[in-house]
Amino acid sequence: MDLLQKTYEAGVVGAGGAGFPTHIKLNANVEYFIINAAECEPLLNTDKYLMSIKAEEMIKGMEHIGELLGAKYLTIAIKQKNSKEISILKETIKKLDSKVELFYLKNFYPAGDEQMTVYEVTGRSIPEAGIPLDVGTVVSNVGTVINVYNAINDKPVTEKYITVVGEVNNPRMLKVPIGISIKECIEAAGGSTLDDYAVIIGGPMMGTIIDDDESSSIYIKKTDGSLIVLPKDHYIVKRKRKPIKTIINETRSACIQCRYCTDLCHRYLLGHKLRPHRVMRNVGMAERDPEIMKESLLCCECGICELYSCPMGLSPRLVNIFVKGELRKQGIRPEKGSLDIESREMIEYRKIPTNRLMSRLDIMKYSDQQIDELKEVKVKKVSIPLSQHIGKPATSIVNIGDKVSRGQLIGKVERNDMGANVHSSIDGKVVDISDKIIIEIEDNEVIL
Ligand code: SF4
Ligand code: SF4
Repeated sequence: MDLLQKTYEAGVVGAGGAGFPTHIKLNANVEYFIINAAECEPLLNTDKYLMSIKAEEMIKGMEHIGELLGAKYLTIAIKQKNSKEISILKETIKKLDSKVELFYLKNFYPAGDEQMTVYEVTGRSIPEAGIPLDVGTVVSNVGTVINVYNAINDKPVTEKYITVVGEVNNPRMLKVPIGISIKECIEAAGGSTLDDYAVIIGGPMMGTIIDDDESSSIYIKKTDGSLIVLPKDHYIVKRKRKPIKTIINETRSACIQCRYCTDLCHRYLLGHKLRPHRVMRNVGMAERDPEIMKESLLCCECGICELYSCPMGLSPRLVNIFVKGELRKQGIRPEKGSLDIESREMIEYRKIPTNRLMSRLDIMKYSDQQIDELKEVKVKKVSIPLSQHIGKPATSIVNIGDKVSRGQLIGKVERNDMGANVHSSIDGKVVDISDKIIIEIEDNEVIL
């Protein structure tokens, strides 16, 4: 079996984050293969749910991938507090006589940042602007590995499990076809409890915010895993939406150079030369020091400085995003740092406890919402983006009027392209093709 070919054919990408094409990522030889099962952003439950219902597929997928990578260690990094999932995983490992091991993480943010997870498991810091491969490691998430297992069995990526929580009538786990709208997902969770609301696609720290009126024209992609519905005037929504001009003006007048943003920045603590307080001091100056501004290129946008550290309510994260954009326009990219890097001594004492973070984010009231009930959602129409992840979009290989079936290839990339194939997520007819392929069930067909 050619696992990379099967993964390419099935269109597998990282099921969270930027969605790196998996057939490219797995073309490596490493010591560690790690599943990042930390799910460290508050309120997210999709990975935990998948581990509880698909543990066998995940462990088998890990064994196949581990063999391909020549990995000595196959490790699932999971939070120690997730006792139910840990016991299911232990039983499955025993049943399959697998060499997979569990590594227990404490309950802190950002335990699931790829660089932090690698540090916790291996004790190695990834160099500045580097990737896990630089320290002999490949990291995947739970959904990705299950999708690789499905790919081995010739099942392409056509569906997603989505946590829907916050201001909805029935918080729950949904199983949905890729290309369903965000609004349909919220309706499947009983609709919002509010007339006007905002939706975070992803986690409260790193997710993207949209308004209720945008939710019918934005569609679930391979990289999505959760939706959090919040009031439009919620603390997180207001903080993330502040205009950059206001932020820079506030920074000039209110930054007291306490350096909490730097002292709690996990990338700084991992040993990187990223000191957001220096970027904040510089961004307000008429003449900025280019070497200091370049530090912002190392920011992973985790949001600790913006939503947790700063006592003045400033947003080093948004300033870094702004500065990164300016530097990119000038063709300036981050430079790869030395492999000879050591974490800072205080790293063990500056991890952010998740409960304290939730309290700061004003989301404690959603923390005990139960999402154990699964609802499988069927729709009559899907809009499947040809670009769902980092890299090159797929090219449509169907025409308007074509009948397609679920799992059929409809958008293609070449094997060596930095991209992923796209498949139909329902049986139906192609009714439009642009940057997405719209497929509708015909009137006389029944949704099964
Ligand atoms: S934490 Fe806030 S006030 Fe302190 S240095 Fe950073 S941006 Fe300035
Ligand atoms: S968002 Fe802030 S805390 Fe996170 S990596 Fe960037 S500078 Fe550091």
